Amino acid sequence: MPIFEYECAACGGVASHVVLGSEQLQHPTCPICGSSQTRRVMSSFALVESEAARMNNFDTRKPRDESFYRDSRNVGLWAKKRAKEMGVDLGSKFDETVEQARTGKLIKDMI
Ligand SMILES: [Zn+2]
Repeated sequence: MPIFEYECAACGGVASHVVLGSEQLQHPTCPICGSSQTRRVMSSFALVESEAARMNNFDTRKPRDESFYRDSRNVGLWAKKRAKEMGVDLGSKFDETVEQARTGKLIKDMI
């Protein structure tokens, strides 16, 4: 679900608002001062999404560059999606391995 960040023109406060469905929150009320002089700002938080959503948006046929792997949350995502597409159950052991790879534990263990 998309999370947008809004900056308040009155007090300069920044607040995150979850936008549900097709709802377009143009000027949500500032939670700090109550002003509606808010505007949407670009935020890294807008990229926060569930793994299920990431997997849905993820195209295994597209080439992946380095930046893709720099995001540790993407580690194992390709394999998981491919397995899902092929109807293969990787089991909980795989999830565990991915989790370790994401936290860097696996790499440390290999060294
Ligand atoms: Zn405000």
